[in-house]
Parts: sequence; structure tokens; C-alpha cells
Amino acid sequence: MPERVIPLADQRYAAAVPRIPESTPPPTGRVIDRLGRPLRDLRISVTDRCNFRCSYCMPKELFGKDYAFLPHSSLLSFEEITRLTRLFVAHGVGKIRLTGGEPLLRKNVEELVAQLSTLRTPEGKPLDLTLTTNGSLLARKAQALKDAGLARVTVSLDALDDMVFRRMNDVDFPVADVLRAIDRAMEVGLGPVKVNMVVKRGTNDHEIVRMARHFRGSGAVLRFIEYMDVGASNGWRMDEVLPSKEVIARLQAEFGLEPLQAQAVGETAQRWRYMDGAGEIGVISSVTQAFCRDCNRARLSTEGKLFLCLFATRGHDLRALLRGGCSDEQISAAIAPIWQQRDDRYSELRSALPREHDADAAAPKRVEMHYIGG
Ligand code: SF4
Repeated sequence: MPERVIPLADQRYAAAVPRIPESTPPPTGRVIDRLGRPLRDLRISVTDRCNFRCSYCMPKELFGKDYAFLPHSSLLSFEEITRLTRLFVAHGVGKIRLTGGEPLLRKNVEELVAQLSTLRTPEGKPLDLTLTTNGSLLARKAQALKDAGLARVTVSLDALDDMVFRRMNDVDFPVADVLRAIDRAMEVGLGPVKVNMVVKRGTNDHEIVRMARHFRGSGAVLRFIEYMDVGASNGWRMDEVLPSKEVIARLQAEFGLEPLQAQAVGETAQRWRYMDGAGEIGVISSVTQAFCRDCNRARLSTEGKLFLCLFATRGHDLRALLRGGCSDEQISAAIAPIWQQRDDRYSELRSALPREHDADAAAPKRVEMHYIGG
């Protein structure tokens, strides 16, 4: 099929330019994928580094102290991220989530937040700027992030017990410091803070009720995430997944809960509220109740590759276009057809996929979560 040629000022990047069928007219404005899903959310990984070693994302055995992270020169600069984001906004993006690795490890990340906070949707609205963090640096940075224009934060916390927490993230970091950071984030107005707990059967599921009891009435929204087969490194097994149905059953046994409506199309969490008014919780059930049909999320890796699914095996190199001297029009004309051709729905297909695929060294590997963010 004839392909559209994207003229590059700097041919060193030619090999990485996304292939776009000639027949796809360069669209402007909002774009819809092959399953009728509009592009709405952009998750931007600002670093592949992290100071935790969560077993479901960056197991220490594989990401040890000698692990070679990306050199700084290959990371997108704040200016490059902002330029690309502006082009995505023109195609319908209204919500940005900054992720990593651990995004607060990226030096002066609040400057990026400040740049992104100047962008407006075609209707003139500010972007919904959010960030997901492990909380280790949040207490120190919360005020600066808020002042720079960040709207909300999501903090990962997999247990209240320090031993269990350590078993999940393989570092010696006190839970108390993460709890202090959550309080600080709420103090400065980065709430309602969402707290994400990845539940691994046999490791931390006995902490579910205790976590709920701790955050009830706090104003924070606790979400329980089913353990997922992200990347190719976490040794995922189905028998370590605790279905959300069981999480809700355990909580129902302690507290009266009732389901709530979704707040937006494409929301990943199913919301439940405590019937005594003590707030709400959520469950994110990618394994047992896939939510691909409304998935409107694109992901930008820390070195400028566009991924269309958390479980993708390949990305589209937009950095090559940026550094290859392309104009905004040319880059925008490259982004749109990539989304339009999207038909990803991995979680819906997961159970039909042969697991041997994972053991097959020749098979394309799913991208690592620390590289594109959750
Ligand atoms: S599996 Fe992929 S397509 Fe489905 S919800 Fe997750 S990111 Fe979206």
C-alpha cells in the first residue's frame, strides 16, 4: 500500500518515521479509532526511573542497581513534551496524566506542569492535569506542583503494614511517609487524592479491609487494582489475581456499599459508595471485567514513542519527527492516522491468548509499565 512521505530535514531519523498509508487523508480535529473510541486522555511518562521496585512492575531481580536506564539525551525535553501535547490537544485530548517510572524523580517536573498548564483545548478550556506517584517525594513537592497548575494526584500505596509494603515494592520506605504525603497533597488542594492499591492474592490481599478502614471518611478515594500481566517481567499468574468481585464482597461484609455511576466515559474504575456517607472506593478490573470498549487513552513513552495500549508490543516514534525537523502540521498529520487505525483491546482478548506466548523468546514482548506509565 503506497505510504505518505513525511519529509525530514534530518534524515538520521528517517528509519523511525511512522508508516502512514497514502490513502489516509491528514485529518484535523478530533480523531476516532476503529472501534469508535475518541482520543481523550494522554498519559505521559516523564522518566523510566523509579526509586521503588514494585514486584508487579519493576522486579528487583531484573531491574537491579546495574540496570541501564535511558540516558537523559534520549528523554523528551519539557519543550518537546509540551509541543507534542499541544498537537494531541488539537486531536481531542483534554486530560493529561504525568507518570513514569516515578515522575517526581524528573528534575524540576513542576516546570513541565507550568508549561502544560498554559495549554487550552479548542474550546478554550484548561487541560485536566493529573499525576501518578509513589508518594516518596510528594510531601516536599506538593505545593510547587499545585502552584504550577497541577489539579490532582494519584498515590500508589499497596499496604499499611511496613513489612507487607516492603514485600510489594522491595524497598525500605516507611508507609508513614507516604501517608504524610497524601495528607500534604490534600492540604495544598491536590485532592480528592486517589490512592491506588494493587491487590496480589497471597501477598497483600489481607490488607484490603484495613486499607478501607484507614481511608474511610478521609476524603481520599481508595481504588483496588487487579494484578495485571503488564510488561514481560513480573511473572504474572492468574491465581495471584484477586477478582474485584471478591474485593467488593469482602468490603460489603464489613461496610454497606452501593454502586455509583461512572463520572466520565472511559473511566477505568467502577465506583462504589459507603452507604453511611463515609466516601467512596473504586475497583479497576482489567483482568476480570475488561473496559477496552471505552478506552480513550494514548500513552507517550519517556523517549517519545506513542503507544495505543498498556499491553502494546510496539510504539510509534514521534521523537524522530520532532528531532527530524518536522513542522507541527506534519507531526499532527502523523499522529491522527495512528489513532484512527487503532483497534487495541488486549484485556478483552487476554483469556483467549496462549500464555506460552510469554515464554516464546521470539514473540514480541509487551512494553514495560515503567517505560510508558500505568
Ligand atoms: S487493555 Fe489496552 S485497550 Fe484495553 S483498556 Fe487497557 S489500555 Fe485500553
